[in-house]
Amino acid sequence: MVSRVIPVDTFDLTIFGGTGDLARRKILPGLYRRYRAGQMPEGSRIVGAARSDMDTDTYRAEVREALREFIQPAKLDRDDVEGFLGCLHYVAIDATGEKGWQELRELMRPDRVRAFYFSVAPALFGAIAERLHHHRIADADSRIVVEKPFGRDLASAQELNRTLAEHFDETQIYRIDHYLGKETVQNLMALRFGNVLFEPLWNSQYVDHIQITVSETVGVGGRGGYYDKSGAMRDMVQNHLMQLLCLIAMEPPSQFEPDAVRDEKLKVIRALDPVRPDDIVRGQYEAGGNVPSYQDDVEDPDTRTESFIAMKIHVSNWRWAGTPFYIRTGKRLRARQSEIAVVFKDAPHSIFGAEAGRHRNILTIRLQPNEGMTLVTTIKEPGLGGMRLIDVPLDMTFADALGAENEVTDAYERLVMDVIRGNQTLFMRGDEVEAAWGWTDPIIQSWSVRDDRPFRYEPGSSGPEESSMLLHRETRRWREIRE
Ligand code: NAD
Repeated sequence: MVSRVIPVDTFDLTIFGGTGDLARRKILPGLYRRYRAGQMPEGSRIVGAARSDMDTDTYRAEVREALREFIQPAKLDRDDVEGFLGCLHYVAIDATGEKGWQELRELMRPDRVRAFYFSVAPALFGAIAERLHHHRIADADSRIVVEKPFGRDLASAQELNRTLAEHFDETQIYRIDHYLGKETVQNLMALRFGNVLFEPLWNSQYVDHIQITVSETVGVGGRGGYYDKSGAMRDMVQNHLMQLLCLIAMEPPSQFEPDAVRDEKLKVIRALDPVRPDDIVRGQYEAGGNVPSYQDDVEDPDTRTESFIAMKIHVSNWRWAGTPFYIRTGKRLRARQSEIAVVFKDAPHSIFGAEAGRHRNILTIRLQPNEGMTLVTTIKEPGLGGMRLIDVPLDMTFADALGAENEVTDAYERLVMDVIRGNQTLFMRGDEVEAAWGWTDPIIQSWSVRDDRPFRYEPGSSGPEESSMLLHRETRRWREIRE
């Protein structure tokens, strides 16, 4: 079974920041894979627009290098690479000045989908939106794609929304959260709303609690200055973990359509209770082995920013009242792992007696590594000698179930193609982002009011001990972080 390639209209995609890290690592390799899959219609163009002075040939050579670095050698077919590079153009542009805009305008052609990817610092979003409008490069059908971070608090997100709204309608704005582009995340919706098995159990009557873990092994590295102004709450929770929580918790939308899905996610965010201070654990990694501490990485011995956070969250509605959502994310942890675990309640009565032990159904949804889903079920241990129960995983790893040729599509390539198709389902709407900041802001503010200091944790661990206590005190435990 090989995935179907659904054709899209011919397009002109301009990438502002086309020489930057994100473009080199994700956007351009993703587009190359779509080209190889036959999904870039003849005549489509990709225009790199960035500050460096160079011509199109030099840009093509740079992108060839980026493909060598970020695409598996077996997938670097010479004809495909040359064909793809032939679709590229370059314009040296100044986002805040006049240079390059006329040239960009001349490259645009009628009867093409026009999309503009703002892969630059958010401080430049307003200037670019304004110039696209002023030079009549964007029209009423054009789409703009904006990257995270979308603001650093409610006020700045509102300001950014207002700035974009001056020149673009909400239906033209695609706010990226690449977690939403992951195959498993969409599969979560297929699992919930395409089967009768799970939805009747998907509530506080049957679900004991839910865990969402996004752990990284890397530290803040060269991004220390940026990261220290943000921290795990702003960098990960307000966007990625919140989006995952919404997809788990939301009611079934009436249609799998942009506003129907986003309305339901928004209702979840609005149903979140404020979080009590003792339901939050923040941490900073210590030095260990030959890696520096968080303080050394950000060059501030007195920093209070968290590189780890764990929280207990309540969704106050009929479906979830009484079922906590535990979330955690951090850097320099034991393994790189993103996982959602739905831990079901014990069977109401054990007919097998105490020796059979305590067994629970757990549905885990892995976003990385190895995207897939596993349902832990309880069966009888095979053999003679009585009724002993064991847990076995029913594995729904995609590569195994669907065949190796059905490789999992990278989030960025799916999302860029959705932009070209004009499908906003997997993009955040302005009011969603604002609601998420509205919930996050008071929590962050309370830390400075209380002069809250993060706990320390060892690099390569699962975070501070206090994070384990968050669950232990309720006789629950985190799932292990491991490869
Ligand atoms: P980068 O610093 O590597 O690249 C910045 C790009 O912007 C360069 O191409 C540069 O030429 C261009 N640029 C800067 N000033 C300009 C100006 N005045 N006029 C025209 N072009 C200008 O940045 P990046 O890491 O690629 O990040 C781009 C955006 O994506 C940022 O908003 C970032 O927060 C976001 N993002 C990046 C990553 C990542 O992994 N790199 C992940 C998520 C989000």
